[in-house]
Amino acid sequence: MEKRMIKVGFQGEKGAYSEMALHQLFRNQSVDAIPFRTSYDVVDALKKGSIDAGLLPIDNSIVGNITHTYDLLVENRLTITKEIIMPIHHNLLVYPGVSKEAIRYIYSHPAAISQCEVFLRGFPGAEIIPTYDTAGSAKMIAEKALTDTAAIAGDRAAEIYGLEKRCEQIEDYPHNQTRFVLIAAEKPVNNGDEVAPWKTTVVFNTLDQPGMLYQCLGVLEKYHVNMTMLTSRPHKTEPWKFNFFVELDGHAASDAMRKAFEEIKKRTGFLHVLGSYHRFEADKSLYSSSAPGTDKQGNNAPLYSLRAHPEATVVTVKDVRIGGGTFTVMAGPCSVEGRHQMIESAKIAHENGAHILRGGAFKPRTSPYSFQGLGLEGLKLLREAGDRFNMPVITEVISPEDVALVAEYADVLQIGARNMQNFVLLQEVGRCNKPVFLKRGMMATVKELLLSAEYILAKGNDQVILCERGIRTFETATRNTLDISAIPLLKEKTHLPVFVDPSHATGIPTLIEPVSRAAAAIGADGIMVEVHFNPATALSDADQALSEPQFASLMAAMKKMGLFM
Ligand code: PEP
Ligand code: MN
Repeated sequence: MEKRMIKVGFQGEKGAYSEMALHQLFRNQSVDAIPFRTSYDVVDALKKGSIDAGLLPIDNSIVGNITHTYDLLVENRLTITKEIIMPIHHNLLVYPGVSKEAIRYIYSHPAAISQCEVFLRGFPGAEIIPTYDTAGSAKMIAEKALTDTAAIAGDRAAEIYGLEKRCEQIEDYPHNQTRFVLIAAEKPVNNGDEVAPWKTTVVFNTLDQPGMLYQCLGVLEKYHVNMTMLTSRPHKTEPWKFNFFVELDGHAASDAMRKAFEEIKKRTGFLHVLGSYHRFEADKSLYSSSAPGTDKQGNNAPLYSLRAHPEATVVTVKDVRIGGGTFTVMAGPCSVEGRHQMIESAKIAHENGAHILRGGAFKPRTSPYSFQGLGLEGLKLLREAGDRFNMPVITEVISPEDVALVAEYADVLQIGARNMQNFVLLQEVGRCNKPVFLKRGMMATVKELLLSAEYILAKGNDQVILCERGIRTFETATRNTLDISAIPLLKEKTHLPVFVDPSHATGIPTLIEPVSRAAAAIGADGIMVEVHFNPATALSDADQALSEPQFASLMAAMKKMGLFM
């Protein structure tokens, strides 16, 4: 006789997290996954026998118990037969082509909304509307072609309903996880003989007398039954009485548990075993080691890798193209020091053919007593100089709170060597729509540089440029040691453009030209150099700044190499 396919109900539309969990739980078996509008409908279908099992979320690592699932379990005397814990990563989904700025309404399930509270604070003008389902919100946007609305939902929902991800992994805590339980109407027969880590969930209430809960828990101690969770829900028909749910290590059929339950029953009005089931063992590939990118074979691949993205990334800044066979020069003073200094230095950069103007407004200085930059005033002066010479501008951002402000004035955001592993800052620039110039930390390996880029890419910003700026070695004759082989090595590993900063790498003006030529010869996509109209007066990095004739000579040498006109 042909075996009937098992029917499993879940709450939500196709593409809901419950459906993803269901397919993961039954990954070696084909099941008929049936969507229901509410958890109550899943339970009704189970009781009528139109489905064999139901999958419901029961706990979330950010918001805690999914209380109505606990209530349904006890009110309907259901049995838990399996559990699964899934990482939950939310996206902000929109109708194709819709920008973040156009969003007026954001729909999702209330649980998903509360897992993204901090992210949603970034949309003060949008109305946040709770609905029955994450995937249901995505479906509505697709069906009605809404161009002012976003949904918070998972990857599957984006795929099924053809929506675009505007932001990814928007949950406030990256280790957001939900536990789902598979429920059945009848008691399944399992007696715990099999060697497996079992766990058991029971619910009981206590008589209204002093110390009753304490006494019940004491029984568990007496029989050495380990309790891993305790939670309570109000008894809905008897006000101020509570049902206590406990999770225990082991099987309900074990000697210790049988004896313990007998004793507890004597002290309580009610005790019901909700089920003994296998403790979920995390499939490691679902968690931290998994990358969001995939290669042609569907295997996980980091987003920075050529496996995930075989073509070179070209970053476009105004009319400047970076990467993909062009050679770009970013030049300007280390810091913005004032209008005269900035305009005069920008003039040198512009007249000699630099493509992008640099200048630090927020300076990450080794000593707290050194010049810290002009801050907002510096941003304004840099912008003014860029506009005067029609050049895009790049400047460093050193704190997550400043990202929005710096992005208002700059065309490219620089993350300096000292902040390469400031992961909160990386995530913040990852959420922003300006290209990011990421400098290698002076103590960082190539792998660490790539993983820092991954932080930015994983938040949805795919405009990342890497920069080798020298690392610390025993050699002190140069300011740092340029790791020249890192350039072709990075080219073997990533599709992102790779720059060289010969100014910070050497600290010596006379070395900047030969090192720049070497960088170009070995395959770099561009260089960043410091130029000052009067190096001796510079408030930061005076020793390494190129003067006008030195910069002119550098640019002439680069042109001679045929790198640009
Ligand atoms: C800079 O570009 O001025 C700078 C501070 O560089 P780094 O972060 O590479 O030291
Ligand atoms: Mn500098």
